[in-house]
Amino acid sequence: QPTRLGFIGLGAMGDPMASNLVSRSAKGSQLYIYDVSAIAMKSFAERHPASVVVCSSPREVSRQAVSAPLNTRSLRFSLAHNQHMGQEIVFTMLPEGSHVRSVYLDATTGILNPDMSARLLVDCSTIDIATFRSVAAEVERYGEKTCFYDAPVSGGTLGAEAASLTFMFGCADDGSDARYPLLHDLLSLMGRTIVACGKPGMGLTAKLCNNYCSGLISLATAEALNMGMRAGMDPRVLAHVFANSTAQSTVCDKWNPVPGICPTAPSSKGYKGGFKVQLMAKDFGLAVGLSEEVGAKVLLGQAGLDAYQSASRDPKCRDLDSRVLFRFIGGRED
Ligand code: NAD
Repeated sequence: QPTRLGFIGLGAMGDPMASNLVSRSAKGSQLYIYDVSAIAMKSFAERHPASVVVCSSPREVSRQAVSAPLNTRSLRFSLAHNQHMGQEIVFTMLPEGSHVRSVYLDATTGILNPDMSARLLVDCSTIDIATFRSVAAEVERYGEKTCFYDAPVSGGTLGAEAASLTFMFGCADDGSDARYPLLHDLLSLMGRTIVACGKPGMGLTAKLCNNYCSGLISLATAEALNMGMRAGMDPRVLAHVFANSTAQSTVCDKWNPVPGICPTAPSSKGYKGGFKVQLMAKDFGLAVGLSEEVGAKVLLGQAGLDAYQSASRDPKCRDLDSRVLFRFIGGRED
Protein backbone atom coordinates (compact mmCIF):
# COMPACT_ATOMS: atom_id res chain seq x y z
CA GLN A 1 0.00 0.00 0.00
CA PRO A 2 1.38 3.45 -0.91
CA THR A 3 2.83 5.62 1.83
CA ARG A 4 3.07 9.35 2.47
CA LEU A 5 6.05 10.49 4.44
CA GLY A 6 8.07 13.63 5.08
CA PHE A 7 11.82 14.24 4.85
CA ILE A 8 13.61 17.46 5.82
CA GLY A 9 17.31 18.06 5.03
CA LEU A 10 18.50 16.81 1.65
CA GLY A 11 22.28 17.12 2.02
CA ALA A 12 25.10 14.63 1.53
CA MET A 13 23.28 12.07 3.71
CA GLY A 14 19.64 13.14 3.56
CA ASP A 15 19.44 13.11 -0.23
CA PRO A 16 20.40 9.44 -0.72
CA MET A 17 18.46 8.39 2.40
CA ALA A 18 15.28 10.08 1.19
CA SER A 19 15.90 8.65 -2.25
CA ASN A 20 15.97 5.10 -0.86
CA LEU A 21 12.96 5.80 1.33
CA VAL A 22 10.83 6.80 -1.63
CA SER A 23 12.15 4.35 -4.20
CA ARG A 24 12.08 1.31 -1.89
CA SER A 25 8.64 1.95 -0.40
CA ALA A 26 5.46 0.78 -2.07
CA LYS A 27 4.70 1.90 -5.62
CA GLY A 28 2.76 5.14 -5.59
CA SER A 29 4.31 6.36 -2.34
CA GLN A 30 4.66 10.10 -1.87
CA LEU A 31 7.48 11.91 -0.12
CA TYR A 32 6.98 15.49 1.10
CA ILE A 33 10.35 17.24 1.16
CA TYR A 34 11.89 20.46 2.42
CA ASP A 35 15.40 21.91 2.51
CA VAL A 36 16.53 25.53 2.90
CA SER A 37 18.42 24.97 -0.34
CA ALA A 38 16.06 25.32 -3.31
CA ILE A 39 18.76 23.70 -5.46
CA ALA A 40 18.80 20.59 -3.26
CA MET A 41 14.99 20.27 -3.48
CA LYS A 42 14.93 20.84 -7.24
CA SER A 43 17.66 18.28 -7.86
CA PHE A 44 15.86 15.71 -5.70
CA ALA A 45 12.44 16.37 -7.24
CA GLU A 46 13.85 16.04 -10.77
CA ARG A 47 15.16 12.56 -9.98
CA HIS A 48 11.81 11.42 -8.49
CA PRO A 49 9.21 13.32 -10.52
CA ALA A 50 6.27 11.03 -9.81
CA SER A 51 6.70 10.63 -6.08
CA VAL A 52 7.91 13.88 -4.57
CA VAL A 53 6.04 16.94 -3.37
CA VAL A 54 8.19 20.01 -2.71
CA CYS A 55 7.05 21.97 0.36
CA SER A 56 7.70 25.54 1.44
CA SER A 57 8.49 24.89 5.12
CA PRO A 58 8.92 22.11 7.69
CA ARG A 59 5.38 22.86 8.86
CA GLU A 60 3.99 22.23 5.39
CA VAL A 61 5.85 18.91 5.28
CA SER A 62 4.43 17.86 8.59
CA ARG A 63 0.90 18.91 7.62
CA GLN A 64 0.97 16.91 4.40
CA ALA A 65 2.87 13.81 5.39
CA VAL A 66 0.07 11.51 6.46
CA SER A 67 1.24 7.94 6.38
CA ALA A 68 -0.44 4.79 5.29
CA PRO A 69 0.85 1.31 6.18
CA LEU A 70 4.01 0.24 4.41
CA ASN A 71 4.03 -3.51 3.99
CA THR A 72 2.28 -6.57 5.32
CA ARG A 73 4.03 -6.56 8.66
CA SER A 74 3.39 -2.85 9.23
CA LEU A 75 -0.11 -3.22 7.90
CA ARG A 76 -0.90 -5.95 10.41
CA PHE A 77 0.71 -3.86 13.13
CA SER A 78 -1.09 -0.67 12.16
CA LEU A 79 -4.45 -2.32 11.83
CA ALA A 80 -4.00 -4.05 15.15
CA HIS A 81 -3.19 -0.77 16.82
CA ASN A 82 -5.56 1.32 14.76
CA GLN A 83 -2.67 3.69 14.11
CA HIS A 84 -2.68 3.99 10.37
CA MET A 85 -5.28 6.73 10.25
CA GLY A 86 -3.97 10.26 10.49
CA GLN A 87 -0.53 9.30 11.67
CA GLU A 88 2.25 11.36 10.24
CA ILE A 89 5.88 10.34 10.02
CA VAL A 90 8.57 12.90 9.36
CA PHE A 91 12.34 12.31 9.17
CA THR A 92 14.92 15.06 9.63
CA MET A 93 18.62 14.95 8.64
CA LEU A 94 20.21 18.28 9.53
CA PRO A 95 23.73 19.50 10.30
CA GLU A 96 23.58 20.64 13.94
CA GLY A 97 21.40 21.16 17.01
CA SER A 98 20.54 24.77 16.09
CA HIS A 99 19.05 23.60 12.76
CA VAL A 100 17.07 20.85 14.47
CA ARG A 101 15.74 23.31 17.03
CA SER A 102 14.49 25.74 14.37
CA VAL A 103 13.02 23.04 12.10
CA TYR A 104 10.96 21.61 14.99
CA LEU A 105 10.27 24.64 17.16
CA ASP A 106 10.09 27.78 14.99
CA ALA A 107 6.83 29.52 15.89
CA THR A 108 5.63 30.00 12.31
CA THR A 109 7.46 27.45 10.15
CA GLY A 110 8.36 24.68 12.62
CA ILE A 111 7.00 21.14 12.56
CA LEU A 112 5.32 21.45 15.97
CA ASN A 113 2.05 23.31 15.73
CA PRO A 114 -1.30 23.43 17.54
CA ASP A 115 -3.13 21.38 14.88
CA MET A 116 -0.92 18.37 15.32
CA SER A 117 -2.51 14.96 15.57
CA ALA A 118 -0.70 11.68 16.17
CA ARG A 119 2.73 12.12 14.73
CA LEU A 120 6.04 10.25 14.69
CA LEU A 121 9.09 12.47 14.35
CA VAL A 122 12.47 10.86 13.76
CA ASP A 123 15.65 12.92 13.84
CA CYS A 124 18.62 11.21 12.18
CA SER A 125 21.07 14.12 12.66
CA THR A 126 24.05 13.90 14.99
CA ILE A 127 23.37 16.63 17.55
CA ASP A 128 23.99 17.34 21.23
CA ILE A 129 21.82 15.41 23.64
CA ALA A 130 20.70 18.58 25.46
CA THR A 131 19.09 19.93 22.25
CA PHE A 132 17.46 16.57 21.61
CA ARG A 133 16.01 16.58 25.15
CA SER A 134 14.74 20.15 24.88
CA VAL A 135 12.93 19.41 21.59
CA ALA A 136 11.61 16.16 23.13
CA ALA A 137 10.22 18.15 26.08
CA GLU A 138 8.31 20.42 23.67
CA VAL A 139 7.00 17.41 21.74
CA GLU A 140 5.72 15.88 24.99
CA ARG A 141 3.28 18.77 25.34
CA TYR A 142 1.36 17.37 22.34
CA GLY A 143 0.35 14.21 24.15
CA GLU A 144 1.43 10.60 24.01
CA LYS A 145 0.39 10.02 20.38
CA THR A 146 3.14 12.34 19.21
CA CYS A 147 6.64 10.96 19.68
CA PHE A 148 10.14 12.21 18.98
CA TYR A 149 12.97 9.74 18.41
CA ASP A 150 16.70 9.99 17.81
CA ALA A 151 18.06 7.70 15.09
CA PRO A 152 21.54 8.90 14.10
CA VAL A 153 23.47 6.86 11.56
CA SER A 154 26.86 5.43 10.76
CA GLY A 155 28.08 4.34 7.34
CA GLY A 156 28.75 7.63 5.59
CA THR A 157 27.57 8.74 2.20
CA LEU A 158 28.42 5.36 0.63
CA GLY A 159 26.25 3.60 3.22
CA ALA A 160 23.46 6.12 2.67
CA GLU A 161 23.53 5.46 -1.09
CA ALA A 162 23.65 1.69 -0.68
CA ALA A 163 20.94 1.68 2.02
CA SER A 164 23.42 -0.13 4.26
CA LEU A 165 23.51 2.40 7.12
CA THR A 166 23.55 1.42 10.77
CA PHE A 167 20.81 3.25 12.70
CA MET A 168 21.33 3.86 16.41
CA PHE A 169 17.69 4.06 17.31
CA GLY A 170 16.63 5.63 20.61
CA CYS A 171 13.82 3.16 21.15
CA ALA A 172 13.16 -0.09 23.03
CA ASP A 173 12.82 -3.40 21.19
CA ASP A 174 11.15 -5.25 24.09
CA GLY A 175 7.51 -4.65 23.18
CA SER A 176 7.20 -1.62 25.47
CA ASP A 177 6.94 0.77 22.50
CA ALA A 178 4.19 -0.28 20.09
CA ARG A 179 5.59 1.96 17.35
CA TYR A 180 8.88 0.10 17.12
CA PRO A 181 7.89 -2.41 14.35
CA LEU A 182 6.56 0.30 12.04
CA LEU A 183 9.58 2.56 12.54
CA HIS A 184 11.95 -0.40 12.21
CA ASP A 185 10.40 -1.19 8.82
CA LEU A 186 10.80 2.39 7.65
CA LEU A 187 14.41 2.70 8.83
CA SER A 188 15.14 -0.63 7.10
CA LEU A 189 14.39 1.03 3.77
CA MET A 190 17.44 3.25 4.38
CA GLY A 191 19.73 1.02 6.42
CA ARG A 192 20.80 -2.59 6.98
CA THR A 193 21.30 -2.64 10.75
CA ILE A 194 18.84 -1.08 13.15
CA VAL A 195 20.12 -1.18 16.72
CA ALA A 196 17.47 -0.46 19.36
CA CYS A 197 19.48 1.52 21.91
CA GLY A 198 16.88 1.40 24.69
CA LYS A 199 15.14 4.75 25.02
CA PRO A 200 15.07 8.25 23.49
CA GLY A 201 18.49 9.92 23.70
CA MET A 202 20.40 6.62 23.79
CA GLY A 203 20.77 6.56 20.00
CA LEU A 204 22.70 9.82 20.17
CA THR A 205 24.69 8.56 23.14
CA ALA A 206 25.76 5.51 21.10
CA LYS A 207 26.61 7.67 18.08
CA LEU A 208 28.83 10.05 20.08
CA CYS A 209 30.67 7.13 21.73
CA ASN A 210 31.14 5.53 18.29
CA ASN A 211 32.53 8.68 16.71
CA TYR A 212 34.84 9.36 19.65
CA CYS A 213 36.30 5.92 19.07
CA SER A 214 36.42 6.04 15.25
CA GLY A 215 37.84 9.60 15.31
CA LEU A 216 40.75 8.43 17.45
CA ILE A 217 41.28 5.32 15.31
CA SER A 218 41.52 7.54 12.19
CA LEU A 219 44.00 9.85 13.91
CA ALA A 220 46.13 6.99 15.25
CA THR A 221 46.12 5.21 11.87
CA ALA A 222 47.21 8.37 10.05
CA GLU A 223 49.98 9.01 12.60
CA ALA A 224 51.26 5.43 12.57
CA LEU A 225 51.29 5.18 8.76
CA ASN A 226 53.08 8.53 8.51
CA MET A 227 55.65 7.36 11.06
CA GLY A 228 56.32 4.15 9.12
CA MET A 229 56.59 5.97 5.79
CA ARG A 230 59.07 8.45 7.20
CA ALA A 231 61.09 5.51 8.51
CA GLY A 232 61.21 4.12 4.95
CA MET A 233 58.29 1.71 4.84
CA ASP A 234 56.04 1.23 1.82
CA PRO A 235 52.59 2.32 3.11
CA ARG A 236 50.90 -0.56 1.25
CA VAL A 237 53.06 -3.10 3.07
CA LEU A 238 52.43 -1.35 6.38
CA ALA A 239 48.65 -1.27 5.74
CA HIS A 240 48.84 -5.00 4.92
CA VAL A 241 50.61 -5.61 8.24
CA PHE A 242 47.91 -3.63 10.09
CA ALA A 243 45.16 -5.52 8.26
CA ASN A 244 46.53 -8.78 9.66
CA SER A 245 47.64 -7.57 13.07
CA THR A 246 46.33 -5.80 16.13
CA ALA A 247 46.14 -2.39 14.35
CA GLN A 248 43.42 -3.73 12.02
CA SER A 249 40.42 -1.43 11.65
CA THR A 250 37.69 -0.44 9.19
CA VAL A 251 39.52 2.88 8.80
CA CYS A 252 42.69 1.08 7.68
CA ASP A 253 40.85 -1.44 5.46
CA LYS A 254 38.22 0.75 3.79
CA TRP A 255 38.93 4.40 4.49
CA ASN A 256 42.71 4.40 4.60
CA PRO A 257 44.03 7.95 5.13
CA VAL A 258 47.01 7.43 2.76
CA PRO A 259 46.14 8.13 -0.89
CA GLY A 260 46.35 5.14 -3.23
CA ILE A 261 45.87 2.33 -0.70
CA CYS A 262 42.08 2.02 -1.02
CA PRO A 263 41.13 3.15 -4.55
CA THR A 264 37.53 4.01 -3.60
CA ALA A 265 38.40 5.86 -0.37
CA PRO A 266 38.16 9.68 -0.32
CA SER A 267 41.96 9.88 0.27
CA SER A 268 42.47 8.44 -3.24
CA LYS A 269 40.23 11.18 -4.70
CA GLY A 270 41.90 14.22 -3.17
CA TYR A 271 39.96 13.59 0.07
CA LYS A 272 36.74 14.60 -1.69
CA GLY A 273 33.40 13.12 -0.57
CA GLY A 274 33.11 11.12 2.65
CA PHE A 275 32.69 12.66 6.10
CA LYS A 276 33.75 16.31 6.31
CA VAL A 277 36.47 17.09 8.83
CA GLN A 278 34.28 19.86 10.32
CA LEU A 279 31.53 17.30 11.02
CA MET A 280 34.03 15.06 12.80
CA ALA A 281 35.24 18.09 14.81
CA LYS A 282 31.60 18.76 15.76
CA ASP A 283 30.91 15.12 16.75
CA PHE A 284 34.20 14.82 18.63
CA GLY A 285 33.43 18.02 20.55
CA LEU A 286 29.96 16.67 21.44
CA ALA A 287 31.54 13.41 22.65
CA VAL A 288 34.09 15.23 24.80
CA GLY A 289 31.20 17.32 26.19
CA LEU A 290 29.32 14.13 27.03
CA SER A 291 32.38 12.69 28.78
CA GLU A 292 32.54 15.80 30.99
CA GLU A 293 28.82 15.65 31.72
CA VAL A 294 28.94 12.03 32.88
CA GLY A 295 32.37 12.23 34.55
CA ALA A 296 34.11 9.78 32.19
CA LYS A 297 37.87 10.26 31.97
CA VAL A 298 39.02 10.63 28.34
CA LEU A 299 42.79 10.93 28.25
CA LEU A 300 42.92 11.53 24.49
CA GLY A 301 39.82 13.72 24.25
CA GLN A 302 41.44 17.15 24.17
CA ALA A 303 44.26 16.05 21.86
CA GLY A 304 41.77 14.54 19.39
CA LEU A 305 39.54 17.60 19.55
CA ASP A 306 42.48 19.97 18.93
CA ALA A 307 43.53 17.89 15.90
CA TYR A 308 40.09 17.92 14.26
CA GLN A 309 39.36 21.56 15.07
CA SER A 310 42.75 22.74 13.77
CA ALA A 311 42.37 20.68 10.57
CA SER A 312 38.87 22.17 10.09
CA ARG A 313 40.40 25.65 10.08
CA ASP A 314 43.27 24.74 7.75
CA PRO A 315 42.49 25.79 4.13
CA LYS A 316 44.32 22.65 2.88
CA CYS A 317 41.92 20.43 4.81
CA ARG A 318 38.63 22.29 5.33
CA ASP A 319 35.56 20.77 3.63
CA LEU A 320 37.47 17.55 2.88
CA ASP A 321 37.02 14.05 4.30
CA SER A 322 38.08 13.74 7.96
CA ARG A 323 40.88 11.31 7.03
CA VAL A 324 42.60 14.42 5.62
CA LEU A 325 44.29 14.48 9.05
CA PHE A 326 47.06 12.56 7.26
CA ARG A 327 47.69 15.67 5.15
CA PHE A 328 47.32 17.91 8.20
CA ILE A 329 50.18 16.12 10.00
CA GLY A 330 52.41 16.41 6.92
CA GLY A 331 51.93 12.94 5.43
CA ARG A 332 53.42 12.24 1.98
CA GLU A 333 50.69 12.04 -0.67
CA ASP A 334 52.64 11.12 -3.83
P1 NAD B 1 24.99 18.41 4.80
O1 NAD B 1 25.51 19.72 5.25
O2 NAD B 1 25.53 17.82 3.55
O3 NAD B 1 23.37 18.47 4.65
C1 NAD B 1 22.53 19.17 5.52
C2 NAD B 1 21.31 19.65 4.74
O4 NAD B 1 20.43 20.31 5.64
C3 NAD B 1 21.66 20.65 3.64
O5 NAD B 1 21.05 20.28 2.43
C4 NAD B 1 21.11 21.98 4.18
O6 NAD B 1 20.69 22.87 3.14
C5 NAD B 1 19.95 21.48 5.00
N1 NAD B 1 19.51 22.43 6.02
C6 NAD B 1 20.25 23.19 6.85
N2 NAD B 1 19.47 23.93 7.65
C7 NAD B 1 18.19 23.62 7.32
C8 NAD B 1 16.92 24.08 7.79
N3 NAD B 1 16.82 24.97 8.77
N4 NAD B 1 15.82 23.55 7.21
C9 NAD B 1 15.92 22.65 6.23
N5 NAD B 1 17.10 22.19 5.73
C10 NAD B 1 18.21 22.69 6.28
O7 NAD B 1 25.21 17.42 6.03
P2 NAD B 1 25.22 15.81 5.98
O8 NAD B 1 26.60 15.33 5.66
O9 NAD B 1 24.06 15.32 5.20
O10 NAD B 1 25.02 15.49 7.55
C11 NAD B 1 23.76 15.60 8.19
C12 NAD B 1 23.88 15.03 9.59
O11 NAD B 1 24.28 13.66 9.49
C13 NAD B 1 24.94 15.74 10.45
O12 NAD B 1 24.46 15.85 11.76
C14 NAD B 1 26.13 14.79 10.37
O13 NAD B 1 26.98 14.89 11.51
C15 NAD B 1 25.46 13.44 10.27
N6 NAD B 1 26.24 12.40 9.61
C16 NAD B 1 26.93 12.67 8.45
C17 NAD B 1 27.67 11.66 7.84
C18 NAD B 1 28.46 11.91 6.57
O14 NAD B 1 29.27 11.06 6.17
N7 NAD B 1 28.27 13.04 5.90
C19 NAD B 1 27.70 10.37 8.40
C20 NAD B 1 26.94 10.11 9.55
C21 NAD B 1 26.22 11.14 10.15
